[in-house]
Amino acid sequence: MLTEDQDRFHEECGVVGVYGHPEAANLAYLALYALQHRGQESSGIVSSRGDALISHRGLGLVADIFKPDIIARLVGTAAIGHNRYATHGETILKNAQPLVVEYAGGALAVAHNGNLVDADVVREQLEANGSIFQSNSDTEVVIHLIAQSRSERLIDRVTAALAQVRGAYSMVFLSKDELIAARDPMGFRPLVLGQVKDAWVVVSETCALDLMNATYVREIEPGEVLVISERGLESFHPFPETPHRRCVFEYVYFARPDSRVFDRTVYQVRRALGRQLARETHVEADLVTPVPDSGVPAALGYAEEAGIPYQLGLIRNHYVGRTFIEPTDSIRHFGVRVKLNAMPELMQGKRVVVVDDSLVRGTTSRKIVAMIRAAGASEVHMRICSPPTISPCYYGIDTPTREELVGASHSVEEIRRFIGADTLAYLSEEGLYAFLNGSPRDFCDACFTGRYPIEVTPGSEPRQLHLFNAIERAAR
Ligand code: AMP
Repeated sequence: MLTEDQDRFHEECGVVGVYGHPEAANLAYLALYALQHRGQESSGIVSSRGDALISHRGLGLVADIFKPDIIARLVGTAAIGHNRYATHGETILKNAQPLVVEYAGGALAVAHNGNLVDADVVREQLEANGSIFQSNSDTEVVIHLIAQSRSERLIDRVTAALAQVRGAYSMVFLSKDELIAARDPMGFRPLVLGQVKDAWVVVSETCALDLMNATYVREIEPGEVLVISERGLESFHPFPETPHRRCVFEYVYFARPDSRVFDRTVYQVRRALGRQLARETHVEADLVTPVPDSGVPAALGYAEEAGIPYQLGLIRNHYVGRTFIEPTDSIRHFGVRVKLNAMPELMQGKRVVVVDDSLVRGTTSRKIVAMIRAAGASEVHMRICSPPTISPCYYGIDTPTREELVGASHSVEEIRRFIGADTLAYLSEEGLYAFLNGSPRDFCDACFTGRYPIEVTPGSEPRQLHLFNAIERAAR
């Protein structure tokens, strides 16, 4: 069983806010449905009836948590919602969001995507001053700071609170009469503004706008705080300007390919990266196959550029969760087999290029290579459409500890041997930005480079699990 301390660093999430729509909760539900890939552990919606906030949160998938009678109870013209992704932590309802509190300023709900790097330190100070915490989520720190503020207006309280924390946040707040959306000054996690008739909506990704039948208005800017109320839309930039550091891993893996993230379509970015990968790592082969679904656009780009036929050599069972959900290594191995199946008819006697978006521990690739060989392939060439993952993320993407990241401690040749491929090649750090066409690289790529845009308070690093050395284990 994991301790509370271990439960903190798993805050990949999706958020939504709706203001000025008679079916606000229903729209929030649609958005959460479209954002399911950003979090599958828990989900919640809080609506404002005008005189009170109404909340429903549950564990599991959006479709299982919200039924028509529950949505009907979430009355009001404004709502916020949240999907939470926790992969190793305990599945505890108290950490499900939106968090709802009653404080001197009234009722307030908050939903957060990201991770605050100094939440521990701020929390200790707050506790020393008498604050009592209900959850172990870093988001609650912000609530306490809001409650402590002496300002009258909610916007002032929110900006005062956010000025005291550091890290990644795309947040939505709901009071009885206002919706506030805020994005941290570096803009790590995405957040966009849309419109459905006269209503305003904010969502993590544009695929949610599509399901809500909303039009895309614009990205909420890094450092922007947006207040949506009876007065309309008011935009503030209360924090000092800093360089922007949008998360490049949203493009590599996390966001849905049909979303427009950071003003680019994810699918097109992945395809461009696949083309670049082919230019950098060409090999003579008979077919290119993606690891579905994450490797699909990159494999298409690779096949186009290399002039090698594209085939779906691996078929995915869509009713299995993401591999990372399984908590132990032994189950993970099993998980790959449950999730993917190779097609011998396509592979027999063929030289196969397999394209995946990233290689983290290497256990998935190892299983896939074995599966393709068992299906009769004569050669297996693994191509990874990002550089080696060498450092954990502190800004809201769940990654294993450094010890578990095979790229952190092993050469490409060692990893190739571990996964059993004939060749293994990654996209270069330069190549990762091929899609930018020379515009500035204002991205966070700490997972691939170890260059962290915001230093992490000592002691707040992700928990250290048991030491995991894949290559040694394989050799045994
Ligand atoms: P691994 O077996 O640890 O090398 O896992 C690599 C696979 O996990 C790749 O197919 C990726 O698509 C996927 N992946 C990479 N990062 C994440 C993440 N943060 N959460 C869930 N899956 C991931």
